[in-house]
Amino acid sequence: MITVNGRRYALAHQPIVVVCVDGCEPDYIAQAVAHGHVPWLKEVLASGTTLVADCVIPSFTNPNNLSIVTGVPPSVHGICGNYLFDVASGTEVMMNDPKWLRAPTILAELANAGQFVAVITAKDKLRKLLGHRMKGICFSAEKADEATDDENGIADVVERVGMPVPSVYSAELSEFVFAAGVELMSHERRPDVMYLSTTDYVQHKHAPGTDGADAFYRMMDGYLGKLDALGCTIVLTADHGMNAKTKMDSAPDVVYLQDLLDEWLGSAVARVILPITDPYVVHHGALGSFATVYLPERFDHAALAARIRALRGIESVRTRAEAAAFFELPADRIGDLVVVAERSTVIGTSAARHDLSGLDAPLRSHGGVSEQRVPLIVNRKLRDIDPMRRWRNFDAFDLALNHVS
Ligand SMILES: [Zn+2]
Repeated sequence: MITVNGRRYALAHQPIVVVCVDGCEPDYIAQAVAHGHVPWLKEVLASGTTLVADCVIPSFTNPNNLSIVTGVPPSVHGICGNYLFDVASGTEVMMNDPKWLRAPTILAELANAGQFVAVITAKDKLRKLLGHRMKGICFSAEKADEATDDENGIADVVERVGMPVPSVYSAELSEFVFAAGVELMSHERRPDVMYLSTTDYVQHKHAPGTDGADAFYRMMDGYLGKLDALGCTIVLTADHGMNAKTKMDSAPDVVYLQDLLDEWLGSAVARVILPITDPYVVHHGALGSFATVYLPERFDHAALAARIRALRGIESVRTRAEAAAFFELPADRIGDLVVVAERSTVIGTSAARHDLSGLDAPLRSHGGVSEQRVPLIVNRKLRDIDPMRRWRNFDAFDLALNHVS
């Protein structure tokens, strides 16, 4: 057994694969099953273990991927967004550098215990965080052609997988992750533990049950079926769900919070931070249902919280201390207020700062409590499982390592 961040894990005695399907709202699976596209999943839902879990809030990619691989919430591992306001330097910075990570990963500790570990991500932004201090294989589909033995523990990935490096805005970027996973598992010296993390490009564009979504899940189902046939225990979960964020005229339903606070308090007195912000914003325009607000001391934070809470489309506003406790967030890395929007609404900074010209489909996004429910599916019948308890997506490794007989 190993202990990581206060939780105990048995070593893998058969190959295990934890899959984080980015943006996998449970309804994507239900619709793909109903339309007959996912025979492997349909069988697993009937004969394996099917749970619905809560992801961490903000329901964004990085905080949840890091929770899954550390087994703990952001209050412990420190990654609470893709992006944060660094109070120390007074600048807004990306949080994809491992220097922000405060906890070891289960992956690194399994590797330290002698297990062969492989991590494959779609986008390169996650690779360094997920592979932090980990011996083994770790590369992204996005930069598969740059992988080297020294840096990634593997070379000639493109040749081995037999697929060209896909565009960062494509379904194929995720397909590459699955194809590479099957390739790694097909050889005699195969990983004991593998973590696959896709991108939500498809989910941002296509609603559950549409042709584009069903095609993605059909593709995924084929690869997971191959991993199953190779003897892998597979745990499928997601970093967050996904919902339409539009008004009835199909335009994005946005509360531009920086504009409002500028009007109420004066220009640039408050600072609204959107932790969804990352270099790949074309498909969501940096609009999600979660924001954090930095305010000068001199203002009555509770009164401002009440004023924001009264806005149409806003679901909750919590002070720093309340939000840190309720959402299990690191208090030193969130603002004075944490604002969550309702299911169909997103929060922006200033209208002028969001380029929505790249949105070629009605906005779908995430970030709020409305995207907290995610699948937690295992292709094995597990023992001692209480479907009524609150499961988290970061219980995935616990299920795979401790509950499979
Ligand atoms: Zn995501």
